[in-house]
Amino acid sequence: MKVSALASGSSGNCFYIENDKSSVLIDAGISSKRILERLSHIKRSPSNINGIFITHEHIDHIRGADVFARKFKIPIFATANTIKNSFLCSDESLLHKIKNNETVKIKNLNVKAFPKSHSASDPVSYTVTENKNVSIMTDLGYLCKESISNISISDFIFLESNHDIRMLENGPYPEHLKKWIKSNEGHLSNKQAALGILEHAKDKLKQVILSHLSETNNTPQKALSTFNVLLKERKNFQPKIFVSLRDAATPLFNI
Ligand SMILES: [Zn+2]
Ligand SMILES: [Zn+2]
Repeated sequence: MKVSALASGSSGNCFYIENDKSSVLIDAGISSKRILERLSHIKRSPSNINGIFITHEHIDHIRGADVFARKFKIPIFATANTIKNSFLCSDESLLHKIKNNETVKIKNLNVKAFPKSHSASDPVSYTVTENKNVSIMTDLGYLCKESISNISISDFIFLESNHDIRMLENGPYPEHLKKWIKSNEGHLSNKQAALGILEHAKDKLKQVILSHLSETNNTPQKALSTFNVLLKERKNFQPKIFVSLRDAATPLFNI
């Protein structure tokens, strides 16, 4: 399998996963034009994308879905409440409802949805599996039991590392927004994310891509150093840590 974060951050999220027979996007939160641009950076074309899986209805996860799906006739998969509470696609024949614990088979890729805690109508994360497990987990208020069990089976994870708690607390956001971000339906801090990996990942986890970093309340350096310091506590456990970017696709990682 090969994977890339085409974009990740509060301004837009889109993840690409492929094997030899098919490929999928998890979220389409940047414009269709940007998705195409980022695909070309990793030398891929939209013609072999067989599905777009949506995590929840917030705009940074769905912005380009309608135009991109219609242009290339790609089916969109999302929970019934996510479809009901957002404008995902004007061509209803492309919309497919899934349950929040359903596995969809796309050729020989299995895409499993599982519920998460976030302030949306029926939000999910996904683990994509061929012979390895790749989890895409952003927009998490806290690590609920489904999130924890998927961390523990992962070989590769895109994990939210949204904010540095001090930067958030001392930063410019209004109090109600700070309170929501810190709540069980908000976003994971660097420390929460790093502890989640430290405590629940198995030794087979080879790589973590820190994702959905806040532009205002975090820096790649702070996120990386939090992980590097905390993960040292566990002997013989050294997954590679990489930060996803807002303005460019990551390299295509081989799993
Ligand atoms: Zn988001
Ligand atoms: Zn969200």
